[in-house]
Formats: sequence, structure tokens, C-alpha cells
Amino acid sequence: MNPFEYTRAGSIPEAVVAVSGEPNACFVAGGTNLIDLWKYDLTHPDRLVDVNGLNTDKPVTERPDGGVRLSAFATNATTAWHPIIETRYPLLSKAIGAGASGQIRNMATNGGNLLQRTRCYYFYEPQAPCNKRTPGSGCGALTGYNRIHAILGQSDSCIAVFPSDMCVALAALKVVVQVSGPQGDRVIPFSEFHRLPGDHPEQDNTLQPGELITAIDLPEEGFAQNYSYLKLRDRHSYAFALVSVATGLILEGDRIQEARIALGGVAHKPWRIPEAEGFLIGKPATRESFAGAADILLEGAKGYAHNSFKIDLAKRAIIRNGLMALSPDTQLPGARPSA
Ligand SMILES: Cc1cc2nc3c(=O)[nH]c(=O)nc-3n(C[C@H](O)[C@H](O)[C@H](O)COP(=O)(O)OP(=O)(O)OC[C@H]3O[C@@H](n4cnc5c(N)ncnc54)[C@H](O)[C@@H]3O)c2cc1C
Repeated sequence: MNPFEYTRAGSIPEAVVAVSGEPNACFVAGGTNLIDLWKYDLTHPDRLVDVNGLNTDKPVTERPDGGVRLSAFATNATTAWHPIIETRYPLLSKAIGAGASGQIRNMATNGGNLLQRTRCYYFYEPQAPCNKRTPGSGCGALTGYNRIHAILGQSDSCIAVFPSDMCVALAALKVVVQVSGPQGDRVIPFSEFHRLPGDHPEQDNTLQPGELITAIDLPEEGFAQNYSYLKLRDRHSYAFALVSVATGLILEGDRIQEARIALGGVAHKPWRIPEAEGFLIGKPATRESFAGAADILLEGAKGYAHNSFKIDLAKRAIIRNGLMALSPDTQLPGARPSA
């Protein structure tokens, strides 16, 4: 029996106050990750502060600076199929549609997606060593079964990967995250939101205790003409990425004027190397150019007993996705519900 208190927040300040000063309180949104973690005995909140229903009348709003604000409390489904997102940010729409299942996307929120935890098998197994779950206990994946694990940015403490699809597109789009907390409001650039494991793999991100994600701000440029999201996985649906790639391009003739590439399934956070994007500027949009960018993105990649295949897979995925971004109309349709 795990007694807990439940409260539904009526506003953002009310939600922040309700978790403040209570170390074992947490927010609950769709609950699609939190409740699983609870069932696995990985979390034991004393107080749940329900943030569903906040700002849901404004899931997606156009801002005066030309960008777009996503409510953190809007569901993944509402966001992906919103006309503004489908037309101006189809890369994001595709990436969200590639994740989970229709039922889960109907429950899961944008804020919760950023905070979902790893799918590393050792994290979920209480008998196994896991520095992310129990700091100081070791990492079972380093010498164990590590097929789904990291090839970039890992440490001797942790080789888990961050499993989100949505966040790979957000990394490519270079968004910022709006948060509200006991010390006030602040803005976190997306590249600084998630952490590499280092010596503290128990910390997935840079949120401070009690901080609530309130919105995600997309820049004006959505790469709506030339984009692609490619997710490679063991099963065609309802499976996490072994490797995923989000690519956005701006072309002038056959030359690349601007490029964004982010990888998922390969590191503790969405993986982006600005030098790889800089390398593409002014180059023709060819297999050779994307291969050059892939070499920069994958520099220093290291595999383990069961996941070395990911290095070559990622390189081929970056090249293929770059070429797919040249003609996005030929891509498979997303998993849009019929009603
Ligand atoms: C079977 C299954 C398959 C899945 N497959 C995929 C997949 O292929 N790709 C993919 O990307 N995802 C996948 N997911 C993960 C899913 O996308 C996440 O579980 C979901 O996005 C989490 O959102 P939520 O609103 O349910 O969060 P919750 O479970 O409610 O919360 C998750 C965490 O975020 C915190 N939180 C929630 N909202 C806020 C906020 N606004 N501010 C601060 N803290 C907050 C909670 O306290 C909790 O710690 C899958 C999930 C399941 C169960």
C-alpha cells in the first residue's frame, strides 16, 4: 500500500505552489510514463499534482514574433494534428506520429514527453545495478545486453538512451522551453534541457525541483518545404527507435542554404552537432554531402558488445534521411487518425 494525496491544479501558480516544499510531490499529466514507473516501484510520490486541463483552450498559438507556442499540457495527438503544426512544422508532426500508439498519444502531453525516462532494461530491473536508478550501484548495461544503448555521449556510469521521438524534431528545430518554478519563470534552450550522463546519470535534465514546464516555443522557421523524420526500429510500430533522424533543409537550387540534423536513440539526449550542419552549407544536396555531415555527427561514436551495428546504421540513416528531405511528398503518410 502506497498512500498518496491527489490534487488538481487550477492554474500554473497553484500547481507550482502545490509541489513546492514537498520533496516527494510530483506533477502528473497523461500519466503514461509516471504510472508505469510507479508500478515498477521506481517512484513513490506522496502527493500527485494533476496539471491536466491547464491552458488546454490554447494548445497551439501563433506568437507575434512569427514563431509558435505549444502548450506543455496539450496532448501529443492534439499537437501533431493541429493545422498550424501540420502545415508549418510537418517535421514535428511526423516525429510525434512515429511515437508510441494512437491511444498513448491521445493521453501523453508535450511536457511529459520531454520528461519521459529511459527504456534501459537495467533501469527497470530492481535487482540489476543501475546508476540512474540507484546512484553508485554500477551500470549493468556496460557489460550486459546493450543492443538499444548509447553510442555517443555516454559515460562509464551510464549508457542509457533518451527514447523520445518528439524531442528529436524539437532539437532539430532549435526550440526553447518555458518553465515556471518557485523562483519564478525562466527559458531553457532545448540544447541545454536534457543532460549527458557524466557522473550523475540519475539527472536526466536541467529542471530544478518544483519547476513546471509550461510551454515549448518553436521558431518561425519550420523547414516545411524540405524535411524528413526517419525512425528505424525492430518493429514497424509501437517500438522505440534504435536510431532516428530529424532533418530540416533550406535549399537554393540544388545547394543547401541551411540545415538541421538531430539524432535519436543514440545518446542520453537528442544528438546534434552544429559543425555537421555548418559543413553542409553551400554544398550540393547529395549523398556525398550528407555522408560528410554524418561523419562529423558520429565522430567519437563507440559501440559495445551488442550495439556496434548502430554506428553504421546511424550513418546510413543520416544519408537516407537527407535524401528523403529533398522530396518530402514521397514519404509515407503519418499515423493520422481517420477521425
Ligand atoms: C507502451 C509505450 C510506448 C511508447 N512509445 C514511445 C515512442 O515510440 N516514442 C516516444 O517518444 N514516446 C513513447 N512513449 C512515451 C510517451 O510518449 C510518454 O510516456 C509520454 O509522452 C509522457 O507524457 P505524459 O503526459 O503521459 O507524462 P506523465 O507520465 O504524466 O509524466 C512524466 C513525467 O513528467 C512529469 N511532468 C509531466 N508534465 C510535466 C510538466 N508540464 N512540467 C514538469 N513536469 C511534468 C511528471 O511528474 C513525470 O515525472 C511510449 C510510452 C508507452 C507507455
